[in-house]
Amino acid sequence: MTYEVKSLNEECGVFGIWGHPDAAKLTYFGLHSLQHRGQEGAGILANDQGTLRRHRDTGLLSEVFRNPLNLEKLTGSSAIGHVRYATAGEASVDNIQPFLFRFQDTQFGLAHNGNLTNAQSLKSELEKNGAIFSSTSDSEILAHLIRRSHNPSFMGKIKEALNTVKGGFAYLMLFEDKLIAALDPNGFRPLSIGKMSNGALVVSSETCAFEVIGAEWIRDVHPGELVIFDENGITYDRYTDDTQLAICSMEYIYFARPDSNIQGVNVHTARKRMGAQLAREFKNQADIVVGVPNSSLSAAMGFAEESGLPNEMGLIKNQYVQRTFIQPTQELREQGVRMKLSAVSGVVKGKRVVMIDDSIVRGTTSRRIVKLLKEAGATEVHVAIASPALAYPCFYGIDIQSREELIAANHTVEETCEIIGADSLTYLSVEGLIDSIGIDTDAPNGGLCVAYFDGKYPTPLYDYEERYLESLNEQTSFY
Ligand code: SF4
Repeated sequence: MTYEVKSLNEECGVFGIWGHPDAAKLTYFGLHSLQHRGQEGAGILANDQGTLRRHRDTGLLSEVFRNPLNLEKLTGSSAIGHVRYATAGEASVDNIQPFLFRFQDTQFGLAHNGNLTNAQSLKSELEKNGAIFSSTSDSEILAHLIRRSHNPSFMGKIKEALNTVKGGFAYLMLFEDKLIAALDPNGFRPLSIGKMSNGALVVSSETCAFEVIGAEWIRDVHPGELVIFDENGITYDRYTDDTQLAICSMEYIYFARPDSNIQGVNVHTARKRMGAQLAREFKNQADIVVGVPNSSLSAAMGFAEESGLPNEMGLIKNQYVQRTFIQPTQELREQGVRMKLSAVSGVVKGKRVVMIDDSIVRGTTSRRIVKLLKEAGATEVHVAIASPALAYPCFYGIDIQSREELIAANHTVEETCEIIGADSLTYLSVEGLIDSIGIDTDAPNGGLCVAYFDGKYPTPLYDYEERYLESLNEQTSFY
């Protein structure tokens, strides 16, 4: 497993299965292919004919299940699992999912990917009415809402709760007799359904998890939809018709694995098209193209094909370095870059290099990589970014909720270029990004959320409105 040198992290990955005797083991393999979506903790909850058992802990999936007995005890034919990267709530074991709720008359498990924008208000209201939360994570809120609903029907309670929470969410809920998946009305986070040859049904944050367990993709979950797996097979239902697809464009740019398909678009192919479009927008002269491994390699291929320049391996990644993104200081982050990447002098020496990267967050990583390439003998380094400038925070499940951390929020392209020490800096245009991803829809922005780039959020921000307005006045404090 390798990790990117970035401070931009997805909140979580979820996986669920219904109707397989090895449900927990398959969930383990499914989660293993979603590990890039969260490395702070992992857990699996299995249902053995109405008895729910769970194991969860902090750390990578392989660390959490280092003792095989922890997986073996999770018997049963249905399971849900979660890998966590914390954006809301601390990284303590109490916040690791799936959550397990036991009541006098029932019990259920819950796993959540995303971030609620009205979590604070809902939590205070629920606490005022006597609710007790066992974690500092937002994800528990849904369980309280379901439990407190006065709607007489079971599905009515779930629908009412889903209509009360706002923001970005993909939920998996495992009950004694069914597994329910639900997606927010904008479909910010990806969620797909698949089927195994024995008829077992699976649901996953990314389709790459289907490959590994031999499942076939059926379709993506639609915004505002509820998908129910039970003894009758699959049932599709809706909790709202007030929907507008706005899938997170950062999934295509950076988060998702290149072998996943989201809304029918392969991530590697989308990245290649972004690279090709970037080449059309690039106005400088160069000799070779060098992609920053690993997430920018697809874009570098597209850039090279379109520009006719050779695509060279001018940067090598050390695959065995541990995660660095959790280290808090800037000094340590820079040290992390040195440990992880090397420039190949024999490739870049005497060359004008176009360095392709997927995004610039703080600028510290880009500055360091430009320096590495120049120290290795590159005569010029032109930085070309296969996404528009990140200038606004995200409130739907990505860990940047302040403009303070974004270099493009307070510096012009020219200033950023100077700060990172490049000879030129080109960002992909927002229109170029939307055209490259090419989801076939009449929705605004081609069905994508591009709020990170243009500050136009597809939903009201609720509890974050004030925070967002404050952030507009923040200055970056890095330079
Ligand atoms: S604001 Fe950015 S990161 Fe957040 S959902 Fe929209 S595109 Fe994705």
